[in-house]
Amino acid sequence: MEFDGTFLIQSKVDVETDTKLQLTQPATLHCWQCSRILGDSLGVCGEMKQLDSIICLKVTYDVAVSEATTVSRGGAMANCVYSPLKCRRCHSALGRFIRAAPSHLAAVRNMFLLYKPNIGCYILKSSSVVTARAVTFDTKTCKESMDEVRQGNVYSDAEVLYVQL
Ligand SMILES: [Zn+2]
Repeated sequence: MEFDGTFLIQSKVDVETDTKLQLTQPATLHCWQCSRILGDSLGVCGEMKQLDSIICLKVTYDVAVSEATTVSRGGAMANCVYSPLKCRRCHSALGRFIRAAPSHLAAVRNMFLLYKPNIGCYILKSSSVVTARAVTFDTKTCKESMDEVRQGNVYSDAEVLYVQL
């Protein structure tokens, strides 16, 4: 794996196993076709399994949002208004930007849904690229995160005291 300052040079490890990786380490998201950087793990809010998509709060400028809007008539995104997303470099379809959604899908309003089969993940710690299909983007609830903090799994006691202040 090499990074030439603009994009990753192709040497992908396409993990096609049944083993799913939990995204707990910093990672960047890439176009699977051309490796352009599309976002990072800090902008990931979770995933929508019905659509095989990653929910992102923010993405890079290389994700082009179409001006055209479409209304879903059925399926998991019924009655949602969205715009298609494309890679600005290679024009691959990347997913959709949700402009409006019914109340039961309020969590994805104004969010970017990146279609996992077209996305790669560069895991910084291991310097490896895997398809996003091999990664789960489930997020923890605030309670789960606080429980970890209280159990000392994440921070030292001093840091926990700081959080409580
Ligand atoms: Zn691309």
